[in-house]
Amino acid sequence: MDLQLPQPGARVAGRVVEDGTLFETRDPADGTVVCELPSTPSPVLGNAILSARAAFEGPWGSMSAGRRQRVLLGLAELVERHAEDLARLECAENGVPIGVVRRFSVAALVRNLRYYAEWVDKLPGEVVPLTSARAIDYALREPYGVVGILTAYNTPSLFVGSKAGPALATGNAVVLKPSPLASLGALMIADLALEAGLPEGTFNVVLGGAEVGAALVAHPGVDKVSFTGSREAGREVSRLASENLTPVALELGGKSPDLVFADADLAKAVPGAALGAFALSGQACVAGSRLYVERPVVDRVCEALVSVTRALEVGDPADPKTVLGPLVSDALRMRVEGMVSGALDGGASLLCGGDRPGGELSGGYYLRPAVVAGARDDDELVREEVFGPVVTVLPFDDEEEAVRRANDTPYGLAAALWTRDLARAHRVAARLRAGTVWVNSYGVVPHSAPFGGFKQSGEGREGGRYALELYTQVKNVYVDLS
Ligand code: NAD
Repeated sequence: MDLQLPQPGARVAGRVVEDGTLFETRDPADGTVVCELPSTPSPVLGNAILSARAAFEGPWGSMSAGRRQRVLLGLAELVERHAEDLARLECAENGVPIGVVRRFSVAALVRNLRYYAEWVDKLPGEVVPLTSARAIDYALREPYGVVGILTAYNTPSLFVGSKAGPALATGNAVVLKPSPLASLGALMIADLALEAGLPEGTFNVVLGGAEVGAALVAHPGVDKVSFTGSREAGREVSRLASENLTPVALELGGKSPDLVFADADLAKAVPGAALGAFALSGQACVAGSRLYVERPVVDRVCEALVSVTRALEVGDPADPKTVLGPLVSDALRMRVEGMVSGALDGGASLLCGGDRPGGELSGGYYLRPAVVAGARDDDELVREEVFGPVVTVLPFDDEEEAVRRANDTPYGLAAALWTRDLARAHRVAARLRAGTVWVNSYGVVPHSAPFGGFKQSGEGREGGRYALELYTQVKNVYVDLS
């Protein structure tokens, strides 16, 4: 695939900084090196934060709302014009099929940049009612200042739109640290941001892994942290940020239950459940990896699910027809295989998939999508986030049991249920402890809707106007008129 590689280096105050020990990014489709990037050293990270502060206190912070809106709409336009280059970079680094990257991650980036730019002149304050006529009180939403953004590898462009989009629209300056597995798109977006007219230092990018992330989060110059990644890293991010009492928004992992009741439209539920479990080869935070099926329809669901799953061919992510690509790394593939074999050792059975395709695909980190049945509720496969293409079918006998087992997890990102019974749909949706519940659908996250986790899946809500609240703090102004 023809790649337009951005210049390798951090983006600090509008300049490319190439200092730092090099690390490689690899193409999961064949293991070849895509490029080498420098891990941002502490002094450069410090400069990135200082330059964000200078932009916030200077040209970006003082820019009129109308101009800020035009600049951000211009950025959306530029990104859209470069969407194909961006999609290719993302596909080469994380192995998500190019068609999926185009339609999902990059399209979401463009949409969110535009959507949040449109909000610039629409976020109201409030006149607070008082009992006294001799005073007036109003509350305003103000930007935090410097927002440190850390993102995961699976949909890196989407994260820039859903995090930097609202952070910038509300007047913050940004220091973004993308996943070391998928950094290139962020560099391209930072270059486009300059071209669009964002003042130098408004949109900085630093590069590297956990160490650079930790330094960013712990830095006293960061006013707000916005993190997307695993629960384990989120815990560490929370701990580091607490040193300075820096507020943190967390979008973490999940172990989402998907409930199929016997009265469901199975022709819709089964493909929906397969998509929910296998989209992005299971590397989705909302992956519906626990499929609870009401006992009378278990056999029918398993049979149909196996047939849908077998039809999902894995293939080269650079091919626009490919639906399922490789996993991001061999380490992740081995972890997923280990979880499946652990469940099989405990008595579960593999209904299909779970093997590595050979031939032309043998050089990549591919794994065929797997359906597992007969696992126990305490198997690691049922309890822990898999982040690979595996769904476990778990039979249940009644609604009460389904809800109890669905909620029996420290996670609470998403859940779904399939039924034709309207009363049950609302009743069960109300009882599922998750930030998002889908009824007769899976995986749809409208850009205007709130998104985030209950329990250990996170803190705060992205999406729609909720994201504007995430990147602003409330100031109350009391004016004595006497
Ligand atoms: P990860 O936790 O390994 O890394 C995420 C980011 O955090 C990366 O930029 C990484 O370099 C950084 N990081 C890692 N350890 C850190 C530390 N100790 N201090 C500071 N920064 C650190 O996650 P990943 O493998 O890139 O992504 C997969 C995980 O992300 C899954 O758990 C998935 O569910 C979750 N995720 C959640 C959402 C959501 O919106 N809730 C979306 C996508 C992915």
